[in-house]
Amino acid sequence: MTWDEYQNTLKELGYSFGDILAIKPAFEFAQETHKNEKRMSGEPYFTHPVSVSLHVAQLKLDADAISASLLHDVVENQGIKIETIKKRFGDEVAFLVEAVTKVDSVHYKGVEREVESLRKMFLALAQDIRVVIIKLMDRLHNMETLEFQAPKKQQRIAEETLELYAPLADRLGIWEIKAKLEDLAFPFVNPQKYIWLKSQVESQRKHGKELLEKLRPRVEYELKKEGVKTEKILYRTKHLYSIWKKLLKYEMDFDRILDIVAMRIIVNNIADCYKTLGVIHKLWKPVPGRIKDFIALPKPNGYQSLHTTVFGPEKRIVDFQIRTTDMHKEAEFGIAAHWAYDESGKKKTVTKINDKKIEWVSRFQKWYQEHKNFPTKDLLLDLKIDFFKDRIFALTPKGDVIDLPDGASPIDFAYHIHSEVGDRMFGAKVNGKMAQFSTILKSGDTVEILTQKNKKPTADWLNHTKTSLARNKIRSFLKKRGQKPQEISETLEITVTAKDRVGILKECSEVFYRFKVNIDDLKTDFKDKKYPKLIFSCKEPGSNSYKILSSLKKIRGILNVAARSSPR
Ligand code: MN
Repeated sequence: MTWDEYQNTLKELGYSFGDILAIKPAFEFAQETHKNEKRMSGEPYFTHPVSVSLHVAQLKLDADAISASLLHDVVENQGIKIETIKKRFGDEVAFLVEAVTKVDSVHYKGVEREVESLRKMFLALAQDIRVVIIKLMDRLHNMETLEFQAPKKQQRIAEETLELYAPLADRLGIWEIKAKLEDLAFPFVNPQKYIWLKSQVESQRKHGKELLEKLRPRVEYELKKEGVKTEKILYRTKHLYSIWKKLLKYEMDFDRILDIVAMRIIVNNIADCYKTLGVIHKLWKPVPGRIKDFIALPKPNGYQSLHTTVFGPEKRIVDFQIRTTDMHKEAEFGIAAHWAYDESGKKKTVTKINDKKIEWVSRFQKWYQEHKNFPTKDLLLDLKIDFFKDRIFALTPKGDVIDLPDGASPIDFAYHIHSEVGDRMFGAKVNGKMAQFSTILKSGDTVEILTQKNKKPTADWLNHTKTSLARNKIRSFLKKRGQKPQEISETLEITVTAKDRVGILKECSEVFYRFKVNIDDLKTDFKDKKYPKLIFSCKEPGSNSYKILSSLKKIRGILNVAARSSPR
C-alpha cells in the first residue's frame, strides 16, 4: 500500500490532517526498515504492520497508537533500538512499541509458555489498554495469514487464540473481533468439525435470511405506523464458532439453537427501542423466557440491546435485537469507543477513562499495582479463571455495577467494592433482605454490605469466596493476625465431551493418575450417543488442575473440557 492510499483510508476513518501528518514518519520508517523482509506468504513484510495499524485505526485509537502499530515489529525483527524510536517518534510511541515487543518475547514452552504469555498480557493490560488492542490486531492479522505457517505452529497459534486472545477481546467488549478470531482459529483446531458445521449452517443461514427478508416490509410498515423511525435494519448471522459452542452445550441438537440469524433493528432512542419491542410482540407471540432487557441491565462489558424471540409466520422461530445507534457503535468498537475522539475534537486520554461500564479495567489496574511481586503461577491461573469465567453483574444500592465471576458471594462483592468494606463486613442484604455470607449472587441482585468498625474476617470466609481478589485479602488479613487459613477442600468436577471411541475413558483416567489425583466419582451421560459426556469428580487438586485440564484437552476425540469447583 502506498502512502497516498494509506492516508486516504485514514481520512475516510475520520482522522484529522494533523493526525495523518503525525503518522507519516512512522509509516515511512517502517517501510524502509522492513524493506528486505518477507512474510511467510511471500508478500513484503511491510504489509503486516500496515494491516495491523488499519485494524487499530478502525477502532479509532489515537495517532500514537497508529504509529506504534506501524512500528510494532521493527525492534524484534530488525533490531532497532527503543532509544532510536524515542528520539524520532517521542516517549509515548516508544513506550507503546516497547510494551508490545515485551508481550511478544515469550521464551518458554508448553504450560509454562501459556503462563508466561498470560503474565505479559496482564501486565500490558495493567499498563495501557492500547498495548493490548495492538496485540489483538497483530494476532488478528496473523490469524488471517495463518495458512502460510507450518502445521505445528498453526495448531499452537490457533489454540492460543482461542484460549487467550478471543476471551480478551470479549472482555474488552470488541465482540466483532472476538468472533473473527474464533472463526479463524476453528478450522485449524478442529478441521473436520469445521467443514461439517459449515455445510450444516449454510443452508440454515440461507433459509433464515430469506425468512427475514420476507418479514422486513411488515416490520417496517408497522413501525412507521407507530411513528418509530428505523435507522437501519441488519441481518445478523451467528458466527460458526459460537454455534459450535452452543451445539456442545445442547448435546449437538440443532433444533435447540434458535438464533442462527436475527434481525437487528437500529433506532434513534431508547423509548423507540421499547416501542419497537411492543410492535414486534403485537405482530408475533414472544417465546417465553427469551425476552432480555440488556438496556435496563447492561452486560458487565457494557453491551446494551433488547433481545426477543417470537413464533413467526409458519410457526418459525425468529430472533430480534433492538438497539440505538449509540449502542450499536459501542458494540462495534467495545472499550475502544470510550477514547474515540469526542465532538470537540479533543482527545480523551487512556488514563482518564472513568466510565462506569469499564470500571473493571481501572480496578484491575489498581489491583495489579498492589501485587507488584505477584503474580505467582498459581495466582495467575486463578486470575485467568476469574477474569474469563462467565460473569454476573450485581448492583450497589446506588446502582453501580459490580462485575463478578459466576458463583460469587456477598463477600466477593464486598471486597470488590473496597478491601476495607470486605474486612469490616458483618452482614449483607440482597434485594433488601438479610442474606447469608454464602449466598450465591445472581445478575441483577442489589447488594448492600453492612459494615462495623470492629468486625474482622474469619478463616471460614474462604469457603464462600470465588474471586482471587477476596481470597487474597482474607488470607493476608489472617496472616497478619498469625492465623492459619483453614480451608475446606473443594470438589472439582470436570465434564469431558468426547467422541465415542474405545479407550477414551482409559486415556482420561490416566491423566488423573499421572498427576496423582484420585477420581472420587465418575458419571457418564449418554444422552447424545455420538458425543457422550464423562463427568469426573475429584478433590480440588490445586495448581495441578490446570495441567489436568490442558492434558485432557489434548486427547484425541475430546471436543470440550469444562471444570467447575464447589465446596464439599
Ligand atoms: Mn506483528
